[in-house]
Amino acid sequence: MNILVLGGAGYIGSHTVYALIEAGQNVVIADNLLTGFEQAVHPKAKFYKGDIRDRAFLDALFAKEHIDVVIHFAACSLVGESVTQPLKYYDNNLCGTKVLLEAMVKAGVDKIVFSSTAATYGEPKRVPILEDDPTEPTNPYGETKLSMEKMFKWVGAAHGIRYVSLRYFNACGAHESGEIGEAHNPESHLIPLILQVPNGKREFISIFGDDYPTKDGTCVRDYIHVTDLAQAHILAAQYLMAGGESDIFNLGNGVGFTVKEVVDVARAVTGHPIPARVEPRRAGDPAQLIASSEKAKTVLGWNPQHASLEEIIASAWKWHSTHPNGYGK
Ligand code: UDP
Repeated sequence: MNILVLGGAGYIGSHTVYALIEAGQNVVIADNLLTGFEQAVHPKAKFYKGDIRDRAFLDALFAKEHIDVVIHFAACSLVGESVTQPLKYYDNNLCGTKVLLEAMVKAGVDKIVFSSTAATYGEPKRVPILEDDPTEPTNPYGETKLSMEKMFKWVGAAHGIRYVSLRYFNACGAHESGEIGEAHNPESHLIPLILQVPNGKREFISIFGDDYPTKDGTCVRDYIHVTDLAQAHILAAQYLMAGGESDIFNLGNGVGFTVKEVVDVARAVTGHPIPARVEPRRAGDPAQLIASSEKAKTVLGWNPQHASLEEIIASAWKWHSTHPNGYGK
């Protein structure tokens, strides 16, 4: 397959590129490098620096490269930032996808795999969450991702584009090589923040709220290894190549861990006491997010290989302990 990975220099994008190349696929990457890193670009991928809102850039790329499937990671993805800067999210996520779809229609590229999120559900009525459960996002990030899904639905119906939307739960961990991993600036995700403590960059981890209706009062999340997410993208691309219908799939392990449990596993993995302090709740955090991924397993044949939280955190620690400043010096 010839795959165009938009956002292939970012966290999940770079891991998917590594998996695609390991599977012998041809990969072209486009990334504006605003939040991605050139060092995360796989040396065997062809790299174009550019922005998906730039129609001329996309038209030139599609004219030059024969693309079978687009995998689209090029979006802003910070919940908190989306609340304070919603228009940035509407511009990058929605307007960017509109320009992308115009370019795909013009170029006759008719298959796309798209990174969506558990944030499309908002506060779930029940767990595990199924794909046809209500979608009521509680922040602009989830709202723009849900709108992108709907854009694919309507544009796909009108112009014959088929899509797979993958709703990730909590992506974490790093490639087994230790060459690439999670790096955000500023960092806002739980596991990288916890690992900043044994790395000497932070004195303690803040626990945002211990009065949720969960077993120890802290939020429950479904942590899924980024390598397992990467495999799901390959399966989704193959599914579309085989003629599969447009569809939406959850990707998680179906097991929830509290924030306190994640800190405990990180203590065991790193051998560091990792002091923790309870602080007020973070706005917009649902108490529990746990996926049912049965549909992805049945329809796509997805089979996560790295479900243990110890293994996930050990792989993250391998990356963060050797790259305490991410891709920086
Ligand atoms: N969290 C926390 N302290 C932190 C960062 C995150 O307690 O310093 C909690 C957060 O409230 C949520 C969970 O950890 O319940 C996972 O947060 P993250 O930002 O990693 O992912 P999200 O679930 O928001 O996508």
